[in-house]
Amino acid sequence: MTDHTLTTHNVVPLRPAPRIIPRAEHCISRAQISEYALKVLYRLKNAGYQAYLVGGSVRDLLLGRRPKDFDIATNAHPEQVRELFKNCRLIGRRFRLAHVHFGPEIIEVATFRSSDEAEAEGDRVMEDGRILRDNVYGSSVEEDVWRRDFTANALYYNIEDFSIVDYVGGVADIQARQLRLIGNPYARYREDPVRLLRAIRFARKLGLTIHPDTERPFTELGPLLEQIPSARLFEEVLKLFLGAHALPTYEALRHYGLFGHLFPDVEAALVEGGDGYASRLLAQALANTDRRISEDKPVTPAFLFAALLWPPLVQREQYHRGHGHPPLVSMQMAQDDVISRQAARVAIPRRFTQVTREIWSLQWRLEQRAPKSALRMLGHPRFRAAYDFLLLRAEAGAPLADCCDWWTRFQAENEQARGQMLSELPSQPRRRKRRPGGRRRAGASHTP
Ligand code: ATP
Ligand code: MG
Repeated sequence: MTDHTLTTHNVVPLRPAPRIIPRAEHCISRAQISEYALKVLYRLKNAGYQAYLVGGSVRDLLLGRRPKDFDIATNAHPEQVRELFKNCRLIGRRFRLAHVHFGPEIIEVATFRSSDEAEAEGDRVMEDGRILRDNVYGSSVEEDVWRRDFTANALYYNIEDFSIVDYVGGVADIQARQLRLIGNPYARYREDPVRLLRAIRFARKLGLTIHPDTERPFTELGPLLEQIPSARLFEEVLKLFLGAHALPTYEALRHYGLFGHLFPDVEAALVEGGDGYASRLLAQALANTDRRISEDKPVTPAFLFAALLWPPLVQREQYHRGHGHPPLVSMQMAQDDVISRQAARVAIPRRFTQVTREIWSLQWRLEQRAPKSALRMLGHPRFRAAYDFLLLRAEAGAPLADCCDWWTRFQAENEQARGQMLSELPSQPRRRKRRPGGRRRAGASHTP
């Protein structure tokens, strides 16, 4: 061996050979793959590129589940992908991708990435071990596989011969129902702390056990989530709570101390309230969301945020009332406080916070049952969501059973019976203006 073979330049890291699982030895058939994904795979192949199905779809099919979407990996560069498909758009700065559109279905095509900066073209931007941008392209699965997060997500279905390429023991992990991060977990979470959330999401959604090495850094590295841009966390929070497994996912996030990095004020209210009302309200809201999704009923993130942020909202509202502000003003001030503090962590778009605010504001009006406006309330665009939220609060233990029952009947009754119900309501106490700092009337505080 001559000396120069020992220079770092020539040292090729020892990487295991892949395990190739031929078509006859795995269960994935083309009939289970979206026709559009197949179209993209074949067109790439016929144009002389490599093309693989990768990520969640291969994982889900091996687990016997129906994939949510189909992601493709190729050696074609994004611009080359665009040349092949007229229905293609390039997206993402941090991670450039091609989206091929077929009506409502989008097939995501990612060019292989490489870990070798010197050889490849493109750019990678790092900061304190965190990957801010990764557009260094590679030319093979062998290069691409190491940048993927979990072994179960790093399996490649080859359109050339329908085999599965496995460099990381992903098939064995799937068989063992195990979620394992590729490489050194501490380094991989530092590269991208969102992987902490992805670990919990996949484990709970797919019923996988998290490998002890993958789990160990959770609590220690949780604070890194606070460095993630709030808009990216919003996307991730939706995946956590709108994936039909919100309740177990939330429980795991709390168990590992990660929830508080996403929702610090909610976490504080939960800790303060012990296992009481706030905790029941959240669990109930998430269980309802899961049930609705499994029944194919629509869910809105606005309702979810209304429930999640309700405990700190009630605290802030009581605080402002305690400082002498009237109920409606206190409610407005509390909403501003809670939403602006939360937006610093998880950027909730205005189109959702607007609806969340309406659901909150209507709570007070539903509780009041003012005879003059009760009928109009039924036609309010947010009446149904606000009514559902009222029921949720009652289920969690707020003393609102009578009020819920009244609104349930009021909706069902005919015009004449409604008139009767209104006439039986006790006349409303005139709202008196209080001086700031004045003593609070007994019972003036909002029902939790
Ligand atoms: P889902 O069922 O939620 O779509 P998925 O595994 O397909 O699950 P995507 O977010 O669609 O997840 O990403 C596709 C693939 O890209 C993943 O399977 C994984 O290989 C890779 N990937 C995505 N995000 C990351 C990340 N933050 N770090 C490393 N690899 C990632
Ligand atoms: Mg996917």
